[in-house]
Amino acid sequence: MDVDFLVIGSGIAGLSFSLKVAGLGSVCVVTKKEEVDSATNLAQGGIAAVLDGSDSFEEHVRDTLEAGSGLCDEEVVRMVVGGGPERIGELIRLGVDFVRRKDGSLDLGKEGGHSRRRVAHSLDLTGREIERALVESVGSCRGVKVFENHMCADLIMSEGGRGRKCVGASVVGENGELRDIYAKNTVLCTGGVGKVYLYTSNPDIATGDGIAVAHRVGAEISDMEFVQFHPTCLYHPKAKNFLISEAVRGEGAILVNEAKERFMVKYEPNRMELATRDKVARAIDKEMKTSGADCVYLDISHKDSFYIRERFPNIFTKCLSFGIDITKDPIPVVPAAHYLCGGVRTDMCGRTTVENLFALGETACTGLHGGNRLASNSLLEAIVYAENAFQYCSKNQNWRAGGKLRSILDTVVKKEDIDEEILINHNWDVIRRTMWNYVGIVRKTSRLMVAKQRIADVRQEIDDILQKYNITTNMLELRNISLVASLIIEAALNRKESVGLHYILDSQETI
Ligand SMILES: Cc1cc2nc3c(=O)[nH]c(=O)nc-3n(C[C@H](O)[C@H](O)[C@H](O)COP(=O)(O)OP(=O)(O)OC[C@H]3O[C@@H](n4cnc5c(N)ncnc54)[C@H](O)[C@@H]3O)c2cc1C
Repeated sequence: MDVDFLVIGSGIAGLSFSLKVAGLGSVCVVTKKEEVDSATNLAQGGIAAVLDGSDSFEEHVRDTLEAGSGLCDEEVVRMVVGGGPERIGELIRLGVDFVRRKDGSLDLGKEGGHSRRRVAHSLDLTGREIERALVESVGSCRGVKVFENHMCADLIMSEGGRGRKCVGASVVGENGELRDIYAKNTVLCTGGVGKVYLYTSNPDIATGDGIAVAHRVGAEISDMEFVQFHPTCLYHPKAKNFLISEAVRGEGAILVNEAKERFMVKYEPNRMELATRDKVARAIDKEMKTSGADCVYLDISHKDSFYIRERFPNIFTKCLSFGIDITKDPIPVVPAAHYLCGGVRTDMCGRTTVENLFALGETACTGLHGGNRLASNSLLEAIVYAENAFQYCSKNQNWRAGGKLRSILDTVVKKEDIDEEILINHNWDVIRRTMWNYVGIVRKTSRLMVAKQRIADVRQEIDDILQKYNITTNMLELRNISLVASLIIEAALNRKESVGLHYILDSQETI
């Protein structure tokens, strides 16, 4: 197959970009599972933007910079914040049904780190509503072809006369066959890396594939030490990755420990539960470690029960299915890996350091989030950069150079099918536990060194497996999470000071 745009991933970044460039040329979207299997589909809180007369760009910029702990690129912050209202207008025109007040204006939610109400939402199912509208629009757009259950395994590079370029990707199809898709522009929209950690709010697709494939062809990767842990994921033996949105704290929920003390008073006396995520997650971690408790509790039961059910229907129903009535009971919560601020380094148009290769959405590191992402800024970043990349492509045509450089997988001599899946599954477990225990919310150089060695050993074993057996998507994901884990550890070891989401005990012992 040969297309103008090969888009890898069908979340908000991939689908928004695809719809825009459909007018410029042929678009092929490959997506690892079904079209809606994405973090986008799970987003609850909403999208932040300046949407009310009492708010200002200056304040949204200031809140973003403050959350980012001095590490954001201010020019990028101003560009993204400035583009927010127009892009949200575009989503509304696509059919996204944001909740409105009686006067017809958007109902805006409040979240941690925001000095104003500025989060457009569809109750606690915002991502599902956005994904629905995008999937429907793509479905009726003749220029975009979507291939579900197709996984990008590696990028294909060319070494023509004009230097190294990305010319497409090797993709594993539904029946396990490997095929090459050539493209003038390849766009990584593969989302985050949450599955690198044992506990995560992320869906199963979040194995950092975009970052791994980009790293293997030499693209610059940055800020990998800044992994955001969401403070409040539901703690229940049967609940898998269920987030209790920040908006619940925004609407007045308080955090208490086992002794029913409102502990944020000790850590952030001013903003309390609405401090930025890094601070709230660290406070919870500290409370749990000190008391030995398995979780803390988020309590919104003092609010009117009708209001709770109306505002958070999804969270109410889900918790009730586990026997927790949030209108009466405190919700048991723990922090979990949620969002990667780092990723494939891009410029303002989403271009990576490899020619003809773009990265958008959570896969990218644009400079917006710095050391810590402000709540609800990631959906915003994805749509603003989809527009920027589209603008770039409409003005610049990329032409493929000849001469294919074979992807790493092409060179693997196939021998036999793996007969013991335990070889794969055991290593998944080792990586995820090692990262959780040694490279989590609070870090220490000695623990990072242990993790580095352990992951290096596992990577060696995975390489051996890949050499010996026929490739499966499970193996490819394992290879990717092991690489991403090592990138996170390396970056954490390189940053000596505690800043933003990277908190290292050797440099500071205050929390
Ligand atoms: C539970 C939860 C709640 C959140 N709430 C909010 C919120 O309220 N506001 C906010 O701004 N942000 C929120 N976030 C973060 C935000 O949802 C994500 O950062 C954003 O949706 C990422 O969009 P994306 O398009 O980059 O990636 P995703 O939406 O994750 O899409 C990635 C796509 O890539 C595909 N893919 C991955 N690897 C491959 C491969 N190798 N080959 C082919 N396809 C591949 C996947 O199948 C998927 O289709 C939340 C995240 C989670 C997990």
